[in-house]
Amino acid sequence: MSKSIVSIVKGTIAKKMVEDALNHLGGVKSLIKEGSTVIVKPNGGHEGPPESSVCTSPAVVKAVIEALWKANPKKIILAESAAIGCDTMKCLEVSGIKKAAEEAGVYDIRDIKSDPDLIRKKIENPRSAIRNIKLPRFLLEADHIVNVPIFKTHVSMVFTCALKNIKGVVQDPIHGTMHLTNLAAAMMDLWSVIRADLSIADLIRPLEGYGPHSTGNPVDFGCIVVSQDPVALDATVCRMIGLPIDDVDYFKAASERGLGVVDKDKIEIRGNSIEEVYKPLHLPYLKGFAAWPEYNFHIENACSSCQGLMAFSMAKLKLLGLYDKNKGIDIVLGRKKDIPEGVHFGKDLILVGDCTKALKKKLDAAGESYIFVVGCPPGEPLPYWAIVDRKDQPDLELFQQPKIMRKRLEDETDLLLEKLKTQKNE
Ligand code: SF4
Repeated sequence: MSKSIVSIVKGTIAKKMVEDALNHLGGVKSLIKEGSTVIVKPNGGHEGPPESSVCTSPAVVKAVIEALWKANPKKIILAESAAIGCDTMKCLEVSGIKKAAEEAGVYDIRDIKSDPDLIRKKIENPRSAIRNIKLPRFLLEADHIVNVPIFKTHVSMVFTCALKNIKGVVQDPIHGTMHLTNLAAAMMDLWSVIRADLSIADLIRPLEGYGPHSTGNPVDFGCIVVSQDPVALDATVCRMIGLPIDDVDYFKAASERGLGVVDKDKIEIRGNSIEEVYKPLHLPYLKGFAAWPEYNFHIENACSSCQGLMAFSMAKLKLLGLYDKNKGIDIVLGRKKDIPEGVHFGKDLILVGDCTKALKKKLDAAGESYIFVVGCPPGEPLPYWAIVDRKDQPDLELFQQPKIMRKRLEDETDLLLEKLKTQKNE
């Protein structure tokens, strides 16, 4: 059986690194058909300036487009659908991606969110609750989709790179639904109907620490990683930065969907070796719950997404000075057959994630109360808000006032950034 090829190039100049990485795969002309329509899909989902590493670096976007033109495609379109509540065009402007694309000769820049010409695609053998997905015709009819993610640590998915970046091809309603079902399985269901045939990952200054937004920390890494197999690419990147593959649940979902290979023996590395570029990144989401002995965690059967989210919530409690105030409570993640022994009830029992629904039923039958956080995994601030406010999440009262909610989130993020900065300088 032929191996999946992943090329790794270490360097300093994006243009040369992208070209060299593509050459290790046989050159751009062997990957992109002459006269074809090519979609470039960066990670431009949030308003983050280039130096923040929240989005793919403009230098990489420019280098990728310049390399693609060498294959003589008929047309290159840059397309993105920013995160829920974010304005795609503004994100592309703030991140410098729009300017980079125009400098490289691409003026057809599309906001997937507002595209009216959609086609409904049925998911065969769905693994999540999603049965069909509406996608823009121009994406489905394109000859190539070139996925250009940046590597970032991710509060609810451990990390984001090639596989997760494709989540940014859907419009807000389906994006929201994906977060209310099993997100990892939903991501792989999406890949089953729309597949990027080439991924070019930006690891020049990836984001470590509390990613994927402004609370993360950009770090000089100096690599471009390219593959036609997004699973092999992501698995290789994990090996380059010291993230144990077994700690990331969505590799299993991706392998089951036949999207690519994880096994080292089935991947051929070209260019630089993993050993040559190896540099462990700060992955605070995987430290374990022993770091917070004053809280009672019941985390058996919980996947890394809920565990990562909870770890971030605990770090946030500590940094924002609310850790001591809430200690002694019980926090439950993952499927449970029985009510854990000795738990507190009422507002001191927090059930996080859809996996706890069976336990929720048992507690209802037993007449016990609790706080419940919906989602799989829940949205980022929700477990934190559940602990601080002792209210079910999402808190509908708050959600009906989006401006107040956003302001709260922004204020908390600003304070968190300030505290992280102080911590770093100490
Ligand atoms: S609810 Fe949480 S633990 Fe359960 S599958 Fe979803 S993310 Fe994983």
